[in-house]
Amino acid sequence: MSKILIIAEHDGDTLNPGTAKAVSCAQAIGGDIDILVLGEDITEVATQAAAIDGVTTVHATSAAHLAAPLAANWAAEIAAAADGYSHVLAPSSTFGKDVLPRAAALLGVNMVSDIAAVDGERSFKRPVYAGNAIAEVSVPDGDTVVATARTASWPAAKEGGSATVNERPAASEDAGHTRYVGLESGGGDRPDLQTARIVLSGGRAFGSAENFEQLYTVADKLKAGVGASRAAVDAGYVPNDMQVGQTGKIIAPELYMAFGISGAIQHITGIKDAGTIVAVNKDADAPIFEIADIGLVADLFTVLPELEQQLG
Ligand SMILES: Cc1cc2nc3c(=O)[nH]c(=O)nc-3n(C[C@H](O)[C@H](O)[C@H](O)COP(=O)(O)OP(=O)(O)OC[C@H]3O[C@@H](n4cnc5c(N)ncnc54)[C@H](O)[C@@H]3O)c2cc1C
Repeated sequence: MSKILIIAEHDGDTLNPGTAKAVSCAQAIGGDIDILVLGEDITEVATQAAAIDGVTTVHATSAAHLAAPLAANWAAEIAAAADGYSHVLAPSSTFGKDVLPRAAALLGVNMVSDIAAVDGERSFKRPVYAGNAIAEVSVPDGDTVVATARTASWPAAKEGGSATVNERPAASEDAGHTRYVGLESGGGDRPDLQTARIVLSGGRAFGSAENFEQLYTVADKLKAGVGASRAAVDAGYVPNDMQVGQTGKIIAPELYMAFGISGAIQHITGIKDAGTIVAVNKDADAPIFEIADIGLVADLFTVLPELEQQLG
């Protein structure tokens, strides 16, 4: 039977919902599911992890050198904690993509990225070529399966669990060569793009960073995350951590609203798992209307102030 260890993603206070999505992926694989919480003073996060349904044990390792999620330090701890586990999973977020390949290298195995479906304990499906093809991947017997779960493909496992919390001493030491300096978050208090229920995105049509303020105002009224097309990022209107798409973030909010975005395949690949897609574009032939559930042919600079007013 599989024994699965999930690496918790968190900010020191709150568990990222991607962790519960990785638990859903683990449930599809089947077997015992434990969670590893690394950090410093992580009692609260461990309690949140223990409340996820289907989890048996939460291993909580608190140490100064693990305080920030530095791959250089976390990977060694993960590799040590993986002993006895058949699978090590993390969400396919920026965090998982940073930490897990390094842990896989320390364990001497190849990594499977972006599990979208489970065919068996060691066989998975993952999207390739911007989601235009699905690859079937198998991990050889005897190798630890180290994999990220594609967050857009898995619902968050429900709460209601009561896992045991085990205080696990650190097995690693500070790597010494990599230092955490600080976190500068461009989004302020806005919800994280990859876990927000509602996301509003803007494209090249905004024309300037100042004009994006109109999008932020409406987003804040809706408590929404804000994304952007690559054209808007390349033009310098927004930072590149806001990019949605093939070379940006793959997201699956309940509601996605695209303003002045044409709908290039590389953008669509990042949003096609969204629940409802709304597009506002002044070109009635824009490709985004082909995948939009609701389309509005209009000028975004007229629509956004109206939306702001309606939302009060
Ligand atoms: C390898 C590769 C990877 C890529 N990865 C990504 C990626 O991850 N994410 C991504 O987004 N792109 C990506 N791209 C780029 C992609 O191909 C497109 O160039 C890009 O998505 C276009 O951005 P856009 O829709 O904002 O701009 P445009 O294509 O220029 O579209 C602007 C749209 O705004 C509309 N418009 C203009 N003015 C208004 C107005 N006032 N009101 C309403 N609508 C208006 C226009 O009708 C038009 O449809 C990638 C490309 C390559 C080659």
